[in-house]
Amino acid sequence: MSIVTCQLSKHMSFPEPVKKILEKIKAHGFQGYLVGGCVRDILRGVEPSDFDIATNAFPEDLQKIFPKSFSNNNFGTVTVLTGAEEENLKEVEITTYRTESGYNDKRHPDSVDFVDNLEEDLKRRDFTINAMAIGADSEVVDLFNGKEDLKNKIIRAVGDPEERFSEDALRLMRAVRFSSSLGFSIEEETKKALKKNASLLKNISNERIRDEFVKIIMTPRAVDGVENLRKLGLMKQFLPEVLEGYKVPQNKHHIYDCYTHCLYSFKYAVKKNFGFHVRLASLFHDIGKPRTKDGEGEQATFYNHEVVGARMTKNILKRLRFKKEDVEKIYLLVRYHLFYYNVGEVSESSVRRLLKKVGKENIEELLQVRMADRIGSGVPKAEPYRLRHMRYLIEKVSLDPINTGMLEIDGKEVMEKMDLPPGPLIGDVLNIILLEVINDPQKNKKSTLEEYIEDLKKIKKEDLREKAERARKEIEKIEIKRDEMTKKKYWVS
Ligand code: ATP
Ligand code: MG
Repeated sequence: MSIVTCQLSKHMSFPEPVKKILEKIKAHGFQGYLVGGCVRDILRGVEPSDFDIATNAFPEDLQKIFPKSFSNNNFGTVTVLTGAEEENLKEVEITTYRTESGYNDKRHPDSVDFVDNLEEDLKRRDFTINAMAIGADSEVVDLFNGKEDLKNKIIRAVGDPEERFSEDALRLMRAVRFSSSLGFSIEEETKKALKKNASLLKNISNERIRDEFVKIIMTPRAVDGVENLRKLGLMKQFLPEVLEGYKVPQNKHHIYDCYTHCLYSFKYAVKKNFGFHVRLASLFHDIGKPRTKDGEGEQATFYNHEVVGARMTKNILKRLRFKKEDVEKIYLLVRYHLFYYNVGEVSESSVRRLLKKVGKENIEELLQVRMADRIGSGVPKAEPYRLRHMRYLIEKVSLDPINTGMLEIDGKEVMEKMDLPPGPLIGDVLNIILLEVINDPQKNKKSTLEEYIEDLKKIKKEDLREKAERARKEIEKIEIKRDEMTKKKYWVS
Protein backbone atom coordinates (compact mmCIF):
# COMPACT_ATOMS: atom_id res chain seq x y z
CA MET A 1 0.00 0.00 0.00
CA SER A 2 1.38 3.39 -0.95
CA ILE A 3 0.69 5.09 2.33
CA VAL A 4 3.25 2.99 4.23
CA THR A 5 6.18 5.18 5.22
CA CYS A 6 8.61 2.71 6.75
CA GLN A 7 8.99 -0.38 8.89
CA LEU A 8 9.09 -0.29 12.64
CA SER A 9 12.75 -0.54 13.73
CA LYS A 10 13.89 -3.91 14.96
CA HIS A 11 14.25 -2.90 18.60
CA MET A 12 10.69 -1.54 18.74
CA SER A 13 7.79 -3.91 19.10
CA PHE A 14 4.30 -4.28 20.46
CA PRO A 15 2.75 -7.11 22.46
CA GLU A 16 1.79 -10.41 20.91
CA PRO A 17 -1.94 -10.30 21.83
CA VAL A 18 -2.25 -6.98 20.00
CA LYS A 19 -0.41 -8.34 16.99
CA LYS A 20 -2.77 -11.33 16.95
CA ILE A 21 -5.79 -9.04 16.81
CA LEU A 22 -4.34 -7.07 13.89
CA GLU A 23 -3.58 -10.32 12.06
CA LYS A 24 -7.05 -11.67 12.67
CA ILE A 25 -8.66 -8.54 11.25
CA LYS A 26 -6.42 -8.84 8.21
CA ALA A 27 -7.17 -12.55 7.78
CA HIS A 28 -10.85 -11.63 7.53
CA GLY A 29 -10.06 -9.31 4.65
CA PHE A 30 -10.16 -6.01 6.53
CA GLN A 31 -7.54 -3.41 7.41
CA GLY A 32 -6.47 -2.93 11.01
CA TYR A 33 -3.93 -0.48 12.42
CA LEU A 34 -2.73 0.62 15.82
CA VAL A 35 -3.43 4.34 16.09
CA GLY A 36 -3.15 7.29 18.45
CA GLY A 37 -1.21 7.44 21.71
CA CYS A 38 0.05 3.84 21.58
CA VAL A 39 1.81 4.41 18.26
CA ARG A 40 3.44 7.54 19.65
CA ASP A 41 4.58 5.61 22.71
CA ILE A 42 5.86 2.56 20.78
CA LEU A 43 7.89 4.86 18.53
CA ARG A 44 9.47 6.65 21.45
CA GLY A 45 10.18 3.42 23.28
CA VAL A 46 7.64 3.84 26.07
CA GLU A 47 5.13 1.22 27.24
CA PRO A 48 1.69 2.40 26.03
CA SER A 49 -1.06 2.79 28.64
CA ASP A 50 -3.57 1.23 26.25
CA PHE A 51 -3.86 0.05 22.66
CA ASP A 52 -6.33 1.49 20.16
CA ILE A 53 -6.99 -0.02 16.77
CA ALA A 54 -8.66 1.60 13.77
CA THR A 55 -10.23 -0.49 11.00
CA ASN A 56 -12.41 -0.34 7.91
CA ALA A 57 -14.55 -3.16 9.34
CA PHE A 58 -17.91 -2.16 10.77
CA PRO A 59 -18.85 -2.89 14.39
CA GLU A 60 -21.09 -5.76 13.34
CA ASP A 61 -18.19 -7.32 11.34
CA LEU A 62 -15.95 -6.98 14.37
CA GLN A 63 -18.41 -8.68 16.65
CA LYS A 64 -18.44 -11.64 14.29
CA ILE A 65 -14.63 -11.77 14.11
CA PHE A 66 -14.28 -11.40 17.88
CA PRO A 67 -16.98 -13.30 19.75
CA LYS A 68 -15.50 -12.10 23.05
CA SER A 69 -16.21 -8.46 22.36
CA PHE A 70 -18.85 -5.90 23.12
CA SER A 71 -19.94 -2.62 21.69
CA ASN A 72 -20.70 -0.14 24.43
CA ASN A 73 -21.56 3.03 22.59
CA ASN A 74 -22.98 4.22 19.36
CA PHE A 75 -19.76 5.70 18.05
CA GLY A 76 -18.68 2.47 16.47
CA THR A 77 -16.19 1.34 19.08
CA VAL A 78 -15.92 -2.35 19.87
CA THR A 79 -14.02 -3.55 22.92
CA VAL A 80 -12.21 -6.86 22.54
CA LEU A 81 -11.28 -8.88 25.61
CA THR A 82 -7.85 -10.34 24.93
CA GLY A 83 -7.58 -12.66 27.89
CA ALA A 84 -4.18 -11.14 28.70
CA GLU A 85 -3.29 -10.40 32.32
CA GLU A 86 -1.53 -7.06 31.91
CA GLU A 87 -3.64 -4.08 32.81
CA ASN A 88 -2.95 -2.23 29.54
CA LEU A 89 -3.65 -5.34 27.46
CA LYS A 90 -6.83 -6.77 28.98
CA GLU A 91 -9.03 -4.82 26.59
CA VAL A 92 -8.30 -3.40 23.19
CA GLU A 93 -10.63 -0.88 21.60
CA ILE A 94 -11.32 -1.13 17.90
CA THR A 95 -12.93 1.82 16.15
CA THR A 96 -14.14 2.00 12.60
CA TYR A 97 -12.34 4.60 10.43
CA ARG A 98 -14.20 7.82 10.58
CA THR A 99 -14.09 11.45 9.83
CA GLU A 100 -15.72 14.17 11.82
CA SER A 101 -17.37 17.04 10.06
CA GLY A 102 -19.18 20.25 10.86
CA TYR A 103 -17.99 21.27 14.32
CA ASN A 104 -20.63 23.93 14.79
CA ASP A 105 -20.53 24.09 18.56
CA LYS A 106 -16.70 23.83 18.71
CA ARG A 107 -17.22 20.80 20.82
CA HIS A 108 -18.82 17.81 19.22
CA PRO A 109 -18.76 16.95 15.60
CA ASP A 110 -22.27 17.24 14.22
CA SER A 111 -21.96 13.75 12.87
CA VAL A 112 -19.59 10.85 12.88
CA ASP A 113 -19.18 9.52 9.39
CA PHE A 114 -17.55 6.18 8.80
CA VAL A 115 -15.02 6.34 5.99
CA ASP A 116 -13.24 3.51 4.26
CA ASN A 117 -9.67 4.71 4.38
CA LEU A 118 -7.03 5.19 7.00
CA GLU A 119 -5.88 8.56 5.61
CA GLU A 120 -9.19 10.21 6.43
CA ASP A 121 -9.11 8.77 9.93
CA LEU A 122 -5.58 10.02 10.57
CA LYS A 123 -6.37 13.46 9.17
CA ARG A 124 -8.96 14.15 11.86
CA ARG A 125 -6.45 13.58 14.68
CA ASP A 126 -5.01 16.46 16.67
CA PHE A 127 -1.21 16.44 16.52
CA THR A 128 1.26 14.85 14.12
CA ILE A 129 2.76 12.66 16.86
CA ASN A 130 -0.74 11.32 17.57
CA ALA A 131 -1.62 10.75 13.92
CA MET A 132 0.52 7.78 12.93
CA ALA A 133 -0.46 4.14 12.50
CA ILE A 134 1.21 0.74 12.71
CA GLY A 135 -0.07 -2.33 10.82
CA ALA A 136 0.06 -6.09 11.46
CA ASP A 137 3.41 -6.42 9.66
CA SER A 138 4.92 -3.57 11.70
CA GLU A 139 4.58 -1.18 8.80
CA VAL A 140 4.37 2.44 9.88
CA VAL A 141 2.01 4.94 8.27
CA ASP A 142 3.14 8.48 8.89
CA LEU A 143 1.41 10.98 6.63
CA PHE A 144 2.27 14.16 8.53
CA ASN A 145 5.89 13.62 9.53
CA GLY A 146 5.01 12.64 13.05
CA LYS A 147 8.20 10.60 13.42
CA GLU A 148 10.29 13.62 12.63
CA ASP A 149 8.34 15.74 15.14
CA LEU A 150 8.68 13.00 17.71
CA LYS A 151 12.43 12.98 17.18
CA ASN A 152 12.61 16.77 17.44
CA LYS A 153 10.21 16.86 20.38
CA ILE A 154 7.62 19.03 18.72
CA ILE A 155 3.84 19.32 19.13
CA ARG A 156 2.45 20.32 15.75
CA ALA A 157 -1.18 20.39 14.68
CA VAL A 158 -2.20 18.13 11.81
CA GLY A 159 -3.02 20.39 8.87
CA ASP A 160 -4.05 24.00 9.42
CA PRO A 161 -3.69 24.71 13.15
CA GLU A 162 -6.26 27.50 13.23
CA GLU A 163 -8.84 25.30 11.63
CA ARG A 164 -8.03 22.42 13.95
CA PHE A 165 -8.34 24.50 17.11
CA SER A 166 -11.56 26.08 15.99
CA GLU A 167 -13.01 22.65 15.18
CA ASP A 168 -12.39 21.45 18.71
CA ALA A 169 -11.12 23.84 21.37
CA LEU A 170 -10.19 21.06 23.78
CA ARG A 171 -7.13 20.64 21.56
CA LEU A 172 -5.88 23.95 23.03
CA MET A 173 -5.56 22.26 26.41
CA ARG A 174 -4.30 19.02 24.90
CA ALA A 175 -1.42 20.85 23.20
CA VAL A 176 -0.23 22.18 26.56
CA ARG A 177 -0.85 18.83 28.22
CA PHE A 178 1.23 16.84 25.71
CA SER A 179 3.87 19.54 25.79
CA SER A 180 4.31 19.12 29.54
CA SER A 181 3.77 15.37 29.78
CA LEU A 182 6.28 14.69 26.99
CA GLY A 183 8.57 17.67 27.54
CA PHE A 184 8.03 18.79 23.94
CA SER A 185 7.80 22.34 22.63
CA ILE A 186 4.84 23.62 20.69
CA GLU A 187 5.71 24.45 17.09
CA GLU A 188 5.52 28.17 16.20
CA GLU A 189 2.54 28.16 13.83
CA THR A 190 0.63 25.87 16.18
CA LYS A 191 1.51 28.14 19.08
CA LYS A 192 0.40 31.26 17.21
CA ALA A 193 -2.92 29.66 16.37
CA LEU A 194 -3.31 28.50 19.94
CA LYS A 195 -2.84 32.02 21.31
CA LYS A 196 -5.15 33.50 18.73
CA ASN A 197 -7.91 30.99 19.49
CA ALA A 198 -7.49 30.75 23.27
CA SER A 199 -10.88 32.30 23.93
CA LEU A 200 -12.59 29.38 22.17
CA LEU A 201 -11.93 27.41 25.34
CA LYS A 202 -15.13 28.91 26.73
CA ASN A 203 -17.01 26.47 24.51
CA ILE A 204 -15.54 23.50 26.33
CA SER A 205 -17.16 22.01 29.42
CA ASN A 206 -15.46 22.66 32.74
CA GLU A 207 -15.15 18.93 33.42
CA ARG A 208 -13.10 18.35 30.30
CA ILE A 209 -10.93 21.40 30.99
CA ARG A 210 -10.43 20.13 34.53
CA ASP A 211 -9.33 16.68 33.34
CA GLU A 212 -6.65 18.18 31.13
CA PHE A 213 -5.61 20.66 33.85
CA VAL A 214 -5.20 17.87 36.40
CA LYS A 215 -3.07 15.89 33.95
CA ILE A 216 -0.90 18.99 33.43
CA ILE A 217 -0.32 19.66 37.13
CA MET A 218 0.53 16.02 37.81
CA THR A 219 3.37 15.83 35.27
CA PRO A 220 6.97 16.37 36.40
CA ARG A 221 7.06 19.43 34.15
CA ALA A 222 3.91 20.86 35.67
CA VAL A 223 5.48 24.26 36.31
CA ASP A 224 6.23 24.76 32.62
CA GLY A 225 2.72 23.55 31.91
CA VAL A 226 1.15 26.15 34.20
CA GLU A 227 3.40 28.86 32.79
CA ASN A 228 2.39 27.83 29.29
CA LEU A 229 -1.27 28.05 30.23
CA ARG A 230 -0.64 31.63 31.35
CA LYS A 231 1.56 32.68 28.43
CA LEU A 232 -0.72 31.19 25.80
CA GLY A 233 -3.81 32.87 27.23
CA LEU A 234 -5.60 29.73 28.44
CA MET A 235 -5.29 30.44 32.15
CA LYS A 236 -7.24 33.65 31.63
CA GLN A 237 -10.10 31.54 30.27
CA PHE A 238 -10.55 29.04 33.07
CA LEU A 239 -8.42 30.20 36.01
CA PRO A 240 -8.44 34.02 35.97
CA GLU A 241 -8.11 34.18 39.77
CA VAL A 242 -4.55 32.86 39.64
CA LEU A 243 -3.64 35.63 37.19
CA GLU A 244 -4.82 38.34 39.59
CA GLY A 245 -1.53 38.03 41.45
CA TYR A 246 0.60 38.42 38.34
CA LYS A 247 3.11 41.23 38.93
CA VAL A 248 1.35 42.27 42.14
CA PRO A 249 4.24 43.02 44.52
CA GLN A 250 4.05 41.91 48.16
CA ASN A 251 5.90 43.71 50.98
CA LYS A 252 9.24 43.88 52.77
CA HIS A 253 8.97 40.25 53.85
CA HIS A 254 8.81 38.96 50.31
CA ILE A 255 11.07 39.05 47.29
CA TYR A 256 8.57 37.70 44.76
CA ASP A 257 5.25 39.04 43.49
CA CYS A 258 2.10 37.10 44.46
CA TYR A 259 1.88 34.99 41.31
CA THR A 260 5.59 34.11 41.22
CA HIS A 261 5.52 33.15 44.87
CA CYS A 262 2.56 30.82 44.30
CA LEU A 263 4.26 29.35 41.23
CA TYR A 264 7.48 28.69 43.17
CA SER A 265 5.55 27.11 46.02
CA PHE A 266 3.87 24.89 43.45
CA LYS A 267 7.29 24.14 41.97
CA TYR A 268 8.46 22.78 45.32
CA ALA A 269 5.30 20.67 45.67
CA VAL A 270 5.97 19.19 42.22
CA LYS A 271 9.65 18.63 42.94
CA LYS A 272 8.76 16.79 46.14
CA ASN A 273 6.17 14.78 44.24
CA PHE A 274 3.43 15.87 46.66
CA GLY A 275 -0.11 14.79 45.84
CA PHE A 276 -2.59 16.71 43.79
CA HIS A 277 -4.36 18.36 46.75
CA VAL A 278 -1.07 19.84 47.96
CA ARG A 279 -0.06 20.87 44.46
CA LEU A 280 -3.30 22.79 43.96
CA ALA A 281 -3.27 24.24 47.48
CA SER A 282 0.30 25.44 46.95
CA LEU A 283 -0.64 27.09 43.68
CA PHE A 284 -3.70 28.71 45.25
CA HIS A 285 -2.56 29.40 48.80
CA ASP A 286 -2.03 33.16 48.38
CA ILE A 287 -4.68 33.66 45.73
CA GLY A 288 -6.54 36.02 48.07
CA LYS A 289 -3.65 38.48 48.40
CA PRO A 290 -4.42 40.84 45.50
CA ARG A 291 -8.01 41.31 46.71
CA THR A 292 -6.98 41.98 50.32
CA LYS A 293 -3.95 44.12 49.65
CA ASP A 294 -3.91 47.32 51.68
CA GLY A 295 -1.28 49.99 51.10
CA GLU A 296 1.65 49.90 48.73
CA GLY A 297 5.34 49.10 48.89
CA GLU A 298 7.17 47.76 51.91
CA GLN A 299 4.31 48.27 54.31
CA ALA A 300 1.53 46.64 52.31
CA THR A 301 -0.68 44.22 54.26
CA PHE A 302 -2.92 41.34 53.26
CA TYR A 303 -5.19 40.81 56.25
CA ASN A 304 -7.51 37.84 55.94
CA HIS A 305 -6.03 36.78 52.63
CA GLU A 306 -6.26 33.15 53.74
CA VAL A 307 -10.00 33.50 54.37
CA VAL A 308 -10.65 35.29 51.09
CA GLY A 309 -8.26 32.94 49.27
CA ALA A 310 -9.94 29.84 50.67
CA ARG A 311 -13.31 31.13 49.49
CA MET A 312 -11.91 31.86 46.03
CA THR A 313 -10.36 28.38 45.99
CA LYS A 314 -13.70 26.81 46.77
CA ASN A 315 -15.37 28.76 43.97
CA ILE A 316 -12.74 27.77 41.43
CA LEU A 317 -12.87 24.09 42.35
CA LYS A 318 -16.65 23.99 42.35
CA ARG A 319 -16.72 25.73 39.00
CA LEU A 320 -14.31 23.14 37.60
CA ARG A 321 -16.55 20.43 39.04
CA PHE A 322 -14.01 18.84 41.33
CA LYS A 323 -15.34 16.19 43.69
CA LYS A 324 -16.81 17.52 46.92
CA GLU A 325 -14.12 15.88 49.09
CA ASP A 326 -11.37 17.42 46.97
CA VAL A 327 -12.97 20.87 47.17
CA GLU A 328 -13.26 20.61 50.94
CA LYS A 329 -9.72 19.35 51.47
CA ILE A 330 -8.01 21.95 49.29
CA TYR A 331 -10.22 24.64 50.84
CA LEU A 332 -8.98 23.65 54.33
CA LEU A 333 -5.34 23.57 53.19
CA VAL A 334 -5.59 27.13 51.87
CA ARG A 335 -7.69 28.36 54.78
CA TYR A 336 -5.23 27.19 57.46
CA HIS A 337 -1.90 27.45 55.66
CA LEU A 338 -0.85 30.26 58.01
CA PHE A 339 -0.97 28.15 61.20
CA TYR A 340 1.38 29.36 63.91
CA TYR A 341 4.19 27.05 64.91
CA ASN A 342 6.96 28.82 66.80
CA VAL A 343 8.74 26.44 69.16
CA GLY A 344 8.08 27.44 72.74
CA GLU A 345 5.21 29.71 71.77
CA VAL A 346 2.71 27.29 70.32
CA SER A 347 0.61 25.65 73.01
CA GLU A 348 -0.77 22.16 73.04
CA SER A 349 -4.27 23.51 73.12
CA SER A 350 -3.71 25.60 70.00
CA VAL A 351 -2.38 22.53 68.19
CA ARG A 352 -5.45 20.65 69.38
CA ARG A 353 -7.67 23.41 67.99
CA LEU A 354 -5.82 23.34 64.64
CA LEU A 355 -6.25 19.56 64.42
CA LYS A 356 -9.92 19.93 65.07
CA LYS A 357 -10.38 22.57 62.36
CA VAL A 358 -8.21 20.99 59.67
CA GLY A 359 -8.86 17.35 60.51
CA LYS A 360 -6.23 14.83 61.54
CA GLU A 361 -6.33 13.28 58.08
CA ASN A 362 -5.28 16.56 56.43
CA ILE A 363 -2.55 17.64 58.78
CA GLU A 364 0.40 16.08 56.95
CA GLU A 365 -0.69 17.79 53.75
CA LEU A 366 -1.07 21.08 55.59
CA LEU A 367 2.56 20.79 56.71
CA GLN A 368 3.53 20.09 53.10
CA VAL A 369 1.73 23.22 51.90
CA ARG A 370 3.51 25.19 54.59
CA MET A 371 6.89 23.84 53.48
CA ALA A 372 6.04 24.71 49.88
CA ASP A 373 5.04 28.20 51.02
CA ARG A 374 8.36 28.71 52.83
CA ILE A 375 10.52 27.43 50.00
CA GLY A 376 8.46 29.32 47.43
CA SER A 377 9.12 32.56 49.25
CA GLY A 378 12.78 32.28 48.33
CA VAL A 379 13.83 31.63 51.93
CA PRO A 380 16.24 28.78 51.45
CA LYS A 381 15.53 26.55 54.44
CA ALA A 382 12.36 24.64 55.19
CA GLU A 383 12.96 25.12 58.94
CA PRO A 384 13.25 21.44 59.68
CA TYR A 385 13.45 21.84 63.45
CA ARG A 386 10.31 23.93 63.76
CA LEU A 387 8.41 21.54 61.55
CA ARG A 388 9.62 18.51 63.45
CA HIS A 389 8.57 20.18 66.66
CA MET A 390 5.15 20.85 65.20
CA ARG A 391 4.87 17.21 64.14
CA TYR A 392 5.83 16.13 67.63
CA LEU A 393 3.14 18.31 69.17
CA ILE A 394 0.60 17.03 66.69
CA GLU A 395 1.36 13.42 67.52
CA LYS A 396 1.42 14.17 71.22
CA VAL A 397 -2.01 15.76 71.27
CA SER A 398 -3.47 13.17 68.94
CA LEU A 399 -2.33 10.18 70.98
CA ASP A 400 -5.16 8.81 73.07
CA PRO A 401 -4.84 10.16 76.59
CA ILE A 402 -3.98 7.54 79.20
CA ASN A 403 -6.89 7.64 81.62
CA THR A 404 -9.56 5.46 83.13
CA GLY A 405 -12.02 6.64 80.46
CA MET A 406 -10.43 4.20 78.02
CA LEU A 407 -11.38 1.16 80.14
CA GLU A 408 -14.12 -1.21 79.05
CA ILE A 409 -15.65 -0.87 82.47
CA ASP A 410 -16.75 2.23 84.38
CA GLY A 411 -17.14 3.49 87.96
CA LYS A 412 -20.77 2.49 88.15
CA GLU A 413 -20.00 -1.13 87.35
CA VAL A 414 -17.14 -1.15 89.86
CA MET A 415 -19.55 0.07 92.55
CA GLU A 416 -22.06 -2.65 91.70
CA LYS A 417 -19.61 -5.52 91.34
CA MET A 418 -17.62 -4.63 94.46
CA ASP A 419 -20.63 -3.48 96.40
CA LEU A 420 -19.02 -0.15 97.23
CA PRO A 421 -20.61 3.26 97.93
CA PRO A 422 -19.61 6.29 95.80
CA GLY A 423 -16.29 7.76 96.94
CA PRO A 424 -12.55 7.99 96.21
CA LEU A 425 -12.14 4.23 96.49
CA ILE A 426 -13.88 3.78 93.13
CA GLY A 427 -11.23 5.92 91.43
CA ASP A 428 -8.57 3.88 93.21
CA VAL A 429 -9.93 0.62 91.82
CA LEU A 430 -10.17 2.08 88.30
CA ASN A 431 -6.51 3.17 88.43
CA ILE A 432 -5.41 -0.28 89.55
CA ILE A 433 -7.32 -1.75 86.61
CA LEU A 434 -5.84 0.89 84.28
CA LEU A 435 -2.27 -0.08 85.12
CA GLU A 436 -3.16 -3.71 84.49
CA VAL A 437 -4.56 -2.77 81.06
CA ILE A 438 -1.59 -0.56 80.12
CA ASN A 439 0.73 -3.48 80.81
CA ASP A 440 -1.45 -5.87 78.86
CA PRO A 441 -3.97 -4.16 76.52
CA GLN A 442 -5.52 -7.58 75.77
CA LYS A 443 -7.07 -7.46 79.20
CA ASN A 444 -9.27 -4.51 78.30
CA LYS A 445 -12.32 -6.72 77.82
CA LYS A 446 -15.39 -6.63 79.97
CA SER A 447 -15.32 -10.30 80.97
CA THR A 448 -11.59 -10.23 81.81
CA LEU A 449 -11.98 -7.06 83.85
CA GLU A 450 -14.95 -8.50 85.74
CA GLU A 451 -12.85 -11.50 86.70
CA TYR A 452 -10.09 -9.18 87.83
CA ILE A 453 -12.56 -7.28 90.00
CA GLU A 454 -13.40 -10.56 91.73
CA ASP A 455 -9.71 -10.77 92.75
CA LEU A 456 -9.69 -7.16 93.92
CA LYS A 457 -12.71 -7.84 96.11
CA LYS A 458 -10.51 -10.05 98.27
CA ILE A 459 -8.10 -7.21 99.06
CA LYS A 460 -8.53 -5.10 102.19
CA LYS A 461 -9.55 -1.46 101.73
CA GLU A 462 -6.30 0.01 103.13
CA ASP A 463 -4.28 -2.24 100.88
CA LEU A 464 -6.38 -1.18 97.90
CA ARG A 465 -5.57 2.49 98.64
CA GLU A 466 -1.89 1.72 98.77
CA LYS A 467 -1.99 -0.37 95.61
CA ALA A 468 -3.81 2.48 93.84
CA GLU A 469 -1.17 4.99 94.95
CA ARG A 470 1.57 2.84 93.44
CA ALA A 471 -0.46 2.39 90.25
CA ARG A 472 -0.89 6.16 89.83
CA LYS A 473 2.85 6.74 90.16
CA GLU A 474 3.58 3.96 87.68
CA ILE A 475 1.07 5.36 85.15
CA GLU A 476 2.66 8.79 85.42
CA LYS A 477 6.09 7.28 84.70
CA ILE A 478 4.71 5.49 81.66
CA GLU A 479 3.23 8.72 80.42
CA ILE A 480 6.54 10.56 80.73
CA LYS A 481 8.28 7.71 78.94
CA ARG A 482 5.79 7.82 76.10
CA ASP A 483 6.37 11.52 75.64
CA GLU A 484 10.13 10.99 75.60
CA MET A 485 9.79 8.38 72.91
CA THR A 486 7.61 10.68 70.82
CA LYS A 487 10.19 13.43 71.24
CA LYS A 488 12.95 11.11 70.11
CA LYS A 489 10.95 10.03 67.11
CA TYR A 490 10.77 13.65 65.93
CA TRP A 491 14.30 14.52 67.05
CA VAL A 492 13.17 17.26 69.34
CA SER A 493 14.64 16.07 72.63
P1 ATP B 1 -2.84 9.28 26.52
O1 ATP B 1 -1.55 8.56 26.57
O2 ATP B 1 -2.94 10.42 27.43
O3 ATP B 1 -4.05 8.39 26.52
P2 ATP B 1 -3.56 9.63 23.78
O4 ATP B 1 -2.81 10.22 22.63
O5 ATP B 1 -3.88 8.19 23.70
O6 ATP B 1 -2.77 9.98 25.09
P3 ATP B 1 -6.38 10.03 23.98
O7 ATP B 1 -7.11 11.17 24.57
O8 ATP B 1 -6.49 8.69 24.59
O9 ATP B 1 -4.85 10.49 23.92
O10 ATP B 1 -6.80 9.97 22.47
C1 ATP B 1 -6.39 8.94 21.58
C2 ATP B 1 -6.10 9.50 20.20
O11 ATP B 1 -7.29 10.06 19.64
C3 ATP B 1 -5.09 10.62 20.18
O12 ATP B 1 -3.77 10.15 20.09
C4 ATP B 1 -5.50 11.40 18.95
O13 ATP B 1 -5.03 10.79 17.79
C5 ATP B 1 -7.01 11.26 18.95
N1 ATP B 1 -7.68 12.37 19.66
C6 ATP B 1 -8.11 12.38 20.94
N2 ATP B 1 -8.72 13.52 21.25
C7 ATP B 1 -8.69 14.26 20.13
C8 ATP B 1 -9.17 15.55 19.81
N3 ATP B 1 -9.79 16.31 20.71
N4 ATP B 1 -8.98 15.99 18.54
C9 ATP B 1 -8.35 15.21 17.63
N5 ATP B 1 -7.88 14.02 17.88
C10 ATP B 1 -8.04 13.52 19.11
MG1 MG C 1 -5.10 6.99 25.10
